[in-house]
Amino acid sequence: METSAARTAPAVIVAIDGPSGTGKSSTSKAVAAQLGLSYLDTGAQYRAITWWMVNNGIDVSDPSAIAAAAGKPDIVSGTDPSAPTITVDGTDVSGPIRTQEVTSKVSAVSAVPEVRARITELQRSTAAAAERGIVVEGRDIGTTVLPDADLKIFLTASPEARAARRSGELKGADVHTTREALMKRDAADSSRKTSPLAKADDAVEVDTSELTLQQVIECVVTLVEEKRAAK
Ligand code: C5P
Repeated sequence: METSAARTAPAVIVAIDGPSGTGKSSTSKAVAAQLGLSYLDTGAQYRAITWWMVNNGIDVSDPSAIAAAAGKPDIVSGTDPSAPTITVDGTDVSGPIRTQEVTSKVSAVSAVPEVRARITELQRSTAAAAERGIVVEGRDIGTTVLPDADLKIFLTASPEARAARRSGELKGADVHTTREALMKRDAADSSRKTSPLAKADDAVEVDTSELTLQQVIECVVTLVEEKRAAK
């Protein structure tokens, strides 16, 4: 619940990066809601552009075809942490971007430099427009998108903890299969040439393996409040 202190505090930019299954989205949304900040899910933007490529018959194994189409879809993110939205050319795609097909293709699309340039520009203008500050979650926010963020957090967790959480979210999907898919996506995201998944040198690393979601939220809220108090 947002407090009156949060309403008068200086704007703060928070970058939360890390691989899938570390609690990034749940933590980022809750921290933003609690502190009265905007929220941006950058993974949803990469998923949205991937959804558009698939829907428009673009061969996602062909980087030049992806690059040529990268400027076409109009992607708009709503930044209210209690009801984040994502549309492509005016269509709500919040459901379709979570399908297995999009999940398995997003790393190939997000590795294309023209896609990253386009989406990075959207992310920077969204952060600049957030009057009271914003929590931006992704893979390259602290390193590339917002290198001057007030606070950078890098969430990690053991492969076992991450697979267990993700298979829970996917309503009991097989843990082993989920773990293999997560590892494959992380390897692709970490090894791409343009802005790979990486911890910024000045990021605070939080291992969430043994923590409850509430503990992670409290830890990040405390770090943000310390930064705000020092501004
Ligand atoms: O966070 P989520 O799992 O929805 O991200 C989906 C994909 O989007 C990632 O696997 C990665 O390929 C891409 N992504 C990225 N850079 C970001 C956020 C997500 O490349 N900042």
